[in-house]
Order: sequence, then structure tokens, then C-alpha cells
Amino acid sequence: MSESSFTVMGTSRLGIEPRCQACGAGASLWFSWRHAHERRSPEDLRRISPFEYWRALRRGKLYKCSVCDEVWHLDEDAERMTHVESKRLPLVLDWSREAIVLPAAISDVVQQIGPTPPDVYGNGREHRVAPCAVRTHSGERFDKAMICVQRDAPVKDGLRFRLGSEIAEIAESPFALPRLVREASSRAHEVRMGFSPTLIEMPDGRRFVMNGTTHFFVAPGYAASDARTVAGSYFSEPLSPSFVETLNDVIYFVVDGDPGWVAEPPEITKTNSSLKGWLKKLLGSSPIRRP
Ligand SMILES: [Zn+2]
Repeated sequence: MSESSFTVMGTSRLGIEPRCQACGAGASLWFSWRHAHERRSPEDLRRISPFEYWRALRRGKLYKCSVCDEVWHLDEDAERMTHVESKRLPLVLDWSREAIVLPAAISDVVQQIGPTPPDVYGNGREHRVAPCAVRTHSGERFDKAMICVQRDAPVKDGLRFRLGSEIAEIAESPFALPRLVREASSRAHEVRMGFSPTLIEMPDGRRFVMNGTTHFFVAPGYAASDARTVAGSYFSEPLSPSFVETLNDVIYFVVDGDPGWVAEPPEITKTNSSLKGWLKKLLGSSPIRRP
């Protein structure tokens, strides 16, 4: 299936049959609730009809599918309906119990490390992330962790979330790239489908390529903090640089707050500020968004 009956804006797992034909659970990760409500085509109405309000969170709401009883999350702005896998539901309910604020001593370290900005297409604007190492109150240690400041509940698919209130201590991660390198990776433009390269060089002269926004670098014999960006094109490198590996064991510690990416990612903001007033008005403040 998966060309599925859903043409509303959203994301589905390709080639996966939904467990429930009514809500799409199992295949559909999220869809645009706002778009479906505004357009109200027969298909949109069919898409939104099975959802029944279940309970409120600190921010946002939970719904259940009236057919299969699976849980879905609607954000505070009623933009996006996101499926909540049953194994993630306890975390979402825990998140909702009380505000999650970092002590000043920890926030100061996060500030020093600095966030990795959203990319030039606006991806990542929903949170502010900074790579770090974490020790939790229960004594667990994570060398590849993120402080993830966001307004809504931790429901985004593909990220491994814990609560920021579990953090006892944080420090720089031995695998985190320097701030300037991370910032450079976030400014990379897509030059081929799904390929947004930025070259880095290590002290021995070996080059690697980051694809899109990159926070960590793990390669035997190298320290992430030694990485430096270098000018040049991936395509004109005589020896194809190795890819910086994408990690799937990063733990995101979610913390309350406004991500603070006010209008656009830094690069676009900088350009706009030098534009004449009328041009600024014409271009508006909406970033380019990936479908
Ligand atoms: Zn369902």
C-alpha cells in the first residue's frame, strides 16, 4: 500500500501496511490536522473522522482512534496529528506531569556548548538542540546526548527521548563536533536529492563529508573536537571523503522552552536584515519548507 488513501500532508512509512485502515496507525507517522480541517475534501473528512478527544496534556492534547483505540497527539497549535506508539505513551504522560526546567548550573553549560541551528530549509525549528554528555540522577551515563528544548510533548518519530528532569550533570561530549562545524553543517544546501554536503578535515589531513545538519562525529583514531570545516566541493575531491556516520543511539533529553528560532535560521535572517524594507515585506518571514 503506502501510496495509501492519504494525500494530505504528512509522513508515512513506505511499504508498510497500516494496522488500522481508519487512522493509519502503524504506517502514518503524522499528518497535517490543520490542512485537513481547512481543506475539508471528502478524503480529509474521512481522515479526521475517527479521532476522538481523550485527554489534555500540559500543552497539546491526546486523541484516540475510535476504531483501533490507538493514541494520537495534537500539538498546542493544532497543526499536526502525530501517532504515539504505545511504548512511548508512558513517557508522554510523564512529560505532562510537571514543568521540566534545567537548573541554572546546567543551563550555563548548555549555553557554553551552544545549539546546532535549524537547517536552511527550516527543518529542526521545532526544537533547540545542543550535543552533550549526560549523567542522570540514577547514575546512567550517556556520551551522545542532546539537550532538546521544545514547547510540545516528545512525540517526534525517530528520536529517542528521555526527560530533562532526569539530568544530574552535563558536560561536553567527547563525540560532539565543534560549534562552528555544527553551524556550518546546518547551512549546507541540498545539491542532490537528500545530499547536503559540508567537508571537514582532521589534523592528519583526512577529509570527511557531513550530510546535512550534523552534531556528532565518531571515527576510530579521531577526536571530534579536532574537526575543522574546509572550503571546496565534495564532487571535486580526488579521494571521495568518507561520510560522517549518522548515529541512531543519541538520547534526546527534552526540556520546556521556546526554541527561540524567531523567524528564520540565522543565515536567512542575516541576509534579510540587509534587504530593503519593501523587498523584506515581499519575501515575508516564512522559510522554505520541505514538503
Ligand atoms: Zn485506528
